[in-house]
Amino acid sequence: MVARIVALNSFGYPLTSLEDQYQKDNKDGIQGYVSSGIWLNASYINHSCYSNVRRSFIGDMQIVRATRDISAGEELTFWYKQPETTGYKKRQEKLQNWGFKCKCAICADDKKTLKRNLTMRDNLVGDFNAAYSAPRGPNIAKAERALTALEETYKKPATEVPRLALEQPYLVLLKLYAARNQAADVISSARKFFISLGFLLTDIPVSRAPTTTCLPFHVKRWGLMVDSVLEVWLILWTAYAIVAPELVDMAEACAKTAYKICIGEDSTFDQEVGVVAREWIGKKVCYGRVEASVDRFVWHRSKVANSGHDADIPM
Ligand SMILES: [Zn+2]
Repeated sequence: MVARIVALNSFGYPLTSLEDQYQKDNKDGIQGYVSSGIWLNASYINHSCYSNVRRSFIGDMQIVRATRDISAGEELTFWYKQPETTGYKKRQEKLQNWGFKCKCAICADDKKTLKRNLTMRDNLVGDFNAAYSAPRGPNIAKAERALTALEETYKKPATEVPRLALEQPYLVLLKLYAARNQAADVISSARKFFISLGFLLTDIPVSRAPTTTCLPFHVKRWGLMVDSVLEVWLILWTAYAIVAPELVDMAEACAKTAYKICIGEDSTFDQEVGVVAREWIGKKVCYGRVEASVDRFVWHRSKVANSGHDADIPM
């Protein structure tokens, strides 16, 4: 019984969350975490895919930060496993060691969605991938059309039910635009990326924005704080410098907030990402062009998913 209590309440953790994010760790073949522990207060926090706090680690200190405004009396939740974008069944499988089924808004909605709609969703993701990886180069128009159709498979507003299947496609598209230094298109894709994750945005009209679809924006309410949100803000920061230089400080502040939520602190922000981003801002180039820099912050879903409550701890 004691072993079971320990198993259900332990957290596997990295030396620091910052170190955990580096791709080189994975290349070195480090799997999972060597440390685990129990934090009494954090053990009371239940799982939700649509969670409102995130945990990070510095040594044996666990830091739990809000990912959006939380009302008085509202339950704090973080995910034990970062939610799978590929549907209800896979998400529940990842949680089976804890012996519960997630009933968050995302899971409840997936469960109610007709099977043919879910199949259509999978097919449209396939269409996007095929268009994006076309042998003669990405067919952007086709890829964008697949994503518009994918959005239509969701019935509820994204603020109520984040549209997980859209996260990776919009991220991929945004990075392609960044690699081509198409700042306006980066902003346009970032807008769709954030909206699909339940963020509420406020447009900020600027004279240099060529169309209304690529208007810069501010976040009115943060949505689902998956790892890629930080990556997108880092790229957006440099895109704003091209399209809306007057908003660069605001974009930097958002990148810093996302960094702090994921890493636990922001005192390393400049040395890890800020200095490089500012260099490229000076050259009027989107951050995504510096593949080496962005790749340092390529988030490894499988590895990140293992942080915190760790299903691999024997029960
Ligand atoms: Zn869920």
